[in-house]
Amino acid sequence: MDMDLSRHTGTSLAAERTLAYARWAGAAVAALQVLIYTPEPTSRPYIISGTVVLAGALAAANLALVGALRRGRTPAWVGSAMFAVDVLVVCGLVWLYLDEPAATQWVLFLIVQLEAAYRWDLRGAIGTALGTSLFYALVWFDASARFGFAYDASYVSYVVGISLVQAIVVGGMARRLRSERDAQARLHQAALALTAGFERQSILDAVVSEAKEISGAELAVLWTPDPDGGFVGEATTGLPGTDGPPAAIPAVDPVYGESSVAAAFRDDAVVVRSGPSGPDPAARESLVLPAVWTQVYSVAVGGEEGPVGVLSCYLGDPPRSGSDELAARLRSLAALATLALRNAVVYQRERSAVEALRDLDRLKDDFLSTVSHELRTPLTVVQGFATTLRDRWEELPDDRRRDLVRRIEGQATGLHERIGDLLDFSRLQSGQLRLDPEAVDLERAVSEIASRLEPTVGPRPVEIEVPAGTSVWADPIALAQILDNLLVNAARYSDPGSTITVRGIDGGDGFTELTVVDRGIGIPPDELDRIFERFYRGRGEEVRRVRGTGVGLAIVKDLVEAQGGTIRVESTPGDGSTFTVRMPASQEADQAASPAADTNTP
Ligand code: ADP
Repeated sequence: MDMDLSRHTGTSLAAERTLAYARWAGAAVAALQVLIYTPEPTSRPYIISGTVVLAGALAAANLALVGALRRGRTPAWVGSAMFAVDVLVVCGLVWLYLDEPAATQWVLFLIVQLEAAYRWDLRGAIGTALGTSLFYALVWFDASARFGFAYDASYVSYVVGISLVQAIVVGGMARRLRSERDAQARLHQAALALTAGFERQSILDAVVSEAKEISGAELAVLWTPDPDGGFVGEATTGLPGTDGPPAAIPAVDPVYGESSVAAAFRDDAVVVRSGPSGPDPAARESLVLPAVWTQVYSVAVGGEEGPVGVLSCYLGDPPRSGSDELAARLRSLAALATLALRNAVVYQRERSAVEALRDLDRLKDDFLSTVSHELRTPLTVVQGFATTLRDRWEELPDDRRRDLVRRIEGQATGLHERIGDLLDFSRLQSGQLRLDPEAVDLERAVSEIASRLEPTVGPRPVEIEVPAGTSVWADPIALAQILDNLLVNAARYSDPGSTITVRGIDGGDGFTELTVVDRGIGIPPDELDRIFERFYRGRGEEVRRVRGTGVGLAIVKDLVEAQGGTIRVESTPGDGSTFTVRMPASQEADQAASPAADTNTP
């Protein structure tokens, strides 16, 4: 409501209320004057009744205004009408008391000049000063005719002169206050615009557009440092006829020297420079910006850890508010921008943390349902066979009974392995698994695992290409588990009959590389980074047909890394996958091993 009124009349409801109090005070002074004043013989005969009428008019107008204020709505014209009443009353009083011996009634004009300044700042004050001076010249002329004294033009010009000086002082002050208030309102609006979103680019866009408004610039650019020591315009208000952000600028130019942007960034300060048509050598950025500006204000944006960018406003004309003032406002805006950017970073970080947790939660749910399925299915089979055996023991032939018992055994072994996997996984996660590395002969280890897994890998021939004497420095049980998981996966995700190749290569750099190659379904590129995550299972239909828990590769990765190694995968969907494990070849290599360097896993 207040804002509304201020747009139309230049004052707020609160200001109207203040003026109403001043009017009551004025009416009271006039009433007191009526009681104690003794007219001179030369006074106008109706001086007392005239004063009563004017004081009454003031009070009546004020009553009407107070009524409007109570209803909370004051149309724009009410303020102007009240001003007109005030001017009439003041002029009336000046006219009534003009021929008093010591009359300096024109000082009353100051009241209406103040009110006009309050409402319409400098223009209002000067207009009122001129209007009331003209009125004064006329009544003074009338008085001189009536009382027969010479018309003293110098006295009138003195009154006009003093009135004008007063008007300039109070109007100028009012204008300054108003521009301060407008600047505050703009900054407030900028703060709202900057905090409206959490996207970096939208904040930067808001910063430059608010900077352009605040400074009245032709163009505003937010520069951020590039790796070469120069700056790129990450956001810009643009200009008609130019599109996209301006090109990058170097920090120092051989001809023009250091740009205002680089100077502001280095000193974390506001730097003001002349533009292409200014008196000083042009700032370097003139070469990449349209030459429509005469002055640039560059201010660093950033927090305690130093600037993160520079906000530059390119002005066509010198700032109306004055150089220091504009610098202060841009500094405030830069501080707001810093806050908004910091909030955005925190927000994004929190959001990705929440997303990661949500993801993990979903994977865990998947995992629970898979695990319960994985455990229940073999149990159901075991139960079914056991019931058959119990109920039909007598009638079943021997070989059938043996077959059922073998199948029960097979299911129980599978179950045992799966539970073992889960237990290992939980021990690995809680850091309880102890590893005892020793020099292991790779060829022997691979052959042992391959023959142990024959029943599982079965119809897929396993080619072993490990030169004799190749060794790795590893815990034998952990190494067996790594090989086991990779071979079982190679078998599960490929068709019967396709070959699986296990290769061992002495890398020559103290590391041994072990690769397991299959010609199976392969892995889509967007899943390559995820398959080593715990609980992650491929999304494809072919994967879902195979039973699994999604912890196998997570175990492998943990075991490999715990022994100073790395693991990576290459795969072509439909063509097969190659898992490569790099492990120290000897104890010395293990000790020299640096943390995982060539893994493509997260
Ligand atoms: P699981 O096999 O129980 O799902 P893993 O952690 O062993 O869990 O494997 C995670 C995922 O990686 C699998 O779901 C599958 O999508 C993919 N994957 C692993 N090994 C292979 C392979 N040899 N060929 C194709 N995909 C594989």
